[in-house]
Amino acid sequence: MRKSLLDKVWDAHSVRELPSGQTQLFIGLHLIHEVTSPQAFQMMREQGFTVLFPERTFATVDHIIPTDTRQRPYSDVQAEGMMSAIERNCREFGIQFFDAASGHQGIVHVLGPELGLTQPGMTVACGDSHTSTHGALGAVAFGIGTSQVRDVLASQCLAIERPKVRRISVDGSLRPGVYAKDVILHIIRSLGVKGGVGYAYEYGGAVLERMSMEERMTVCNMSIEGGARLGYVNPDHKTFDYVRGREFAPPAEHLDAAVVWWTSMASDPDAAYHDVIRLDGASIAPTVTWGINPGQAIGVDETLPAAESFPADERAVAEDAYAYMDLRPGTPIRGTRIDVAFIGSCTNGRLSDLREAARVARLGHVAPHVRALVVPGSQAVARAAEAEGLHDVFRAAGFEWRLPGCSMCLAMNPDKLVGRQICASSSNRNFKGRQGSPSGRTLLMSPAMVAAAALEGAVVDVRELLPKNGEAPTRAENE
Ligand code: SF4
Repeated sequence: MRKSLLDKVWDAHSVRELPSGQTQLFIGLHLIHEVTSPQAFQMMREQGFTVLFPERTFATVDHIIPTDTRQRPYSDVQAEGMMSAIERNCREFGIQFFDAASGHQGIVHVLGPELGLTQPGMTVACGDSHTSTHGALGAVAFGIGTSQVRDVLASQCLAIERPKVRRISVDGSLRPGVYAKDVILHIIRSLGVKGGVGYAYEYGGAVLERMSMEERMTVCNMSIEGGARLGYVNPDHKTFDYVRGREFAPPAEHLDAAVVWWTSMASDPDAAYHDVIRLDGASIAPTVTWGINPGQAIGVDETLPAAESFPADERAVAEDAYAYMDLRPGTPIRGTRIDVAFIGSCTNGRLSDLREAARVARLGHVAPHVRALVVPGSQAVARAAEAEGLHDVFRAAGFEWRLPGCSMCLAMNPDKLVGRQICASSSNRNFKGRQGSPSGRTLLMSPAMVAAAALEGAVVDVRELLPKNGEAPTRAENE
């Protein structure tokens, strides 16, 4: 035996080995959205292809959808064109489309797991680099390019190289105020943004075992930011409980058999890995990025590192980051003034993220100079949050409660930074211009940290605000 989940799932879905050394891999679940699919359907038409298994592809709209109104046509002509294209393509090729009227619309990586489409032991592909999110359920899930979207539509297969596997074990336990987002930012900081190139990341250890499914999704989501095309957590009883009863989960009469198979897909206890990394959960602090890639991150209680402290090949990027961000080595990240706070995205736009952010929002009011947005990851998340009254908590604290979508994560819709604004963001990329302004600046952090920064008007350590066991909060209600 001695096989990892990656190898088991790969072997179970391998059609054949190709002369190129790649595998022809069968894809169990294909997810599409409006941005990377139009050209793929265009190629399908030009080449006279039909969709081989239309029941294995599901569509949603997330990137371009406005979060203030669903009024059609959209004011952005290009966005309206993409929306019309995915509507027509799904209709003509027989694909189920979760549009705003379906009640299921949402970010593609929020919607797949919450509908039970994503299941353990599956291969999942989507024309989006954060498809690694689905690995939280014990699936082999990765992003693909537009021509590969066409390949999956036409053949349900991909020609792809098998990655090596690095086991990342996060041992011990996290301290209060430290979240899954801090764990993955810490991993990327430790291993580098290119450290995972050629690898699948298998996350494990006591910290991952204790995490909820939504927390595991946050970790797997950002695998790609560490260079790994995919990341996963071995399925366990939490995974099975999560999938059970969801709309596309196996029906009750097949569930026991499914659980047996899902269990068999988990890595063997003595599985062989190409590399093993161990990290101590207790050493992780609330983490904030200061630069222009997610690896340029520090604990909130640290000062910004000197450019000379980086390896020679990273020094130029560090200097570029300091110039772009207008931050200075040796100064604390804590206290950096922000203009915008964004809570949402496929990394941190789920119910548990909103709950943690609301816990902080209850402690005060958004600073007068800050614009703060909360964008649920899906319509289902929005409904659940509203049923708990979270929207009222956010609104009372001065946050805008928006309709679901990707929003300011990528700013392909009207939610954009303006000029040199600095945004505390729960999203996953802090690249130059990522949030809609070519000179806008992004500080990545957990949703609770974003909420805390919104109240303070600057980066702050959320642990100073959160109530400790049995103690009153350190920040007065309605301050
Ligand atoms: S939320 Fe951001 S990272 Fe996720 S799918 Fe949308 S644009 Fe991509």
